[in-house]
Amino acid sequence: MYKIAFVSGKGGTGKTTVAVNLAKFLSINIRVLLVDLDVEEPNDNIFFNYNITTDGAFYYRPTFDLEKCTYCLECSKKCQFGAIAVAPNFLNFFEELCHGCTACKYICQYKAISDGEREIGKINYNLANSPSLISGCLNYGSTLSTALIRKTKEYADRNKDNFDLLIYDCPPGNSCPAIESIKGVDMVVIVAEPTPFGFHDFKIMEKTLKKLDKNFLIFINKDDSSFPDLRNYCLFNNLKIIGNIKYSKNISKQYSKGEFIINTTEVAEQLYNAYVNIMNNIERRIERNINC
Ligand code: SF4
Ligand code: SF4
Repeated sequence: MYKIAFVSGKGGTGKTTVAVNLAKFLSINIRVLLVDLDVEEPNDNIFFNYNITTDGAFYYRPTFDLEKCTYCLECSKKCQFGAIAVAPNFLNFFEELCHGCTACKYICQYKAISDGEREIGKINYNLANSPSLISGCLNYGSTLSTALIRKTKEYADRNKDNFDLLIYDCPPGNSCPAIESIKGVDMVVIVAEPTPFGFHDFKIMEKTLKKLDKNFLIFINKDDSSFPDLRNYCLFNNLKIIGNIKYSKNISKQYSKGEFIINTTEVAEQLYNAYVNIMNNIERRIERNINC
């Protein structure tokens, strides 16, 4: 069982298009679990329209016992997120600012803080259909996307033995949620778009992955010849491009209707070649005993 993560520096490059269509394409022959980690805006289910089962995703919340509290201020000083305000005989907790780090609990000498829980989002799933799908969905107002990504991955891991391949559709960007989503994967694929913005954010993602010492490959989406800088940069820097999907209005229309695009031979071929390349790269690294 391998795990592949599809990332993009910039939003809108087609990361979901590639992840969803690859999952659909491969599920004809192997057992695929697609994991939607774009928890602030999950949309993979739109393509599959499955019947979904939902579980709550819960995370740490400190609970304050004001009978024991001496209003010593220590928890407030320790909290880096400004989630606790303390004044003489007054303590206020701002749940929406709390990141659940538990530091306040450990700093309180008076045992006035104990473990609590709050729901930060939902985990939606259908493990019966092929490909199977698990999708994290953050509650409105919650800022804990990284925590929910971790929970969604844990949920997928509990089921991983039933699958040959896990495909992570990761959140866009290069910040904490994207970094959390690529932890523990066998290969990262950057879905890049040949535009000045796309190229700019691609280079940030490339730098990030290199710093993290992650293996990565590149898939170019909406490919056309009007902006050659991305392709030239990859060639010049020895970065492996494993496939591309040409820019096409028809594909955009199909995507906007929530349709798959693997009915064209060209796209199916590109996805198949990309998959073979990914597997070859993973297996070569395993042979050489190098971790991703
Ligand atoms: S550290 Fe404990 S005792 Fe001090 S203000 Fe916070 S909850 Fe109260
Ligand atoms: S758990 Fe962490 S973030 Fe939340 S209130 Fe306590 S110190 Fe602040």
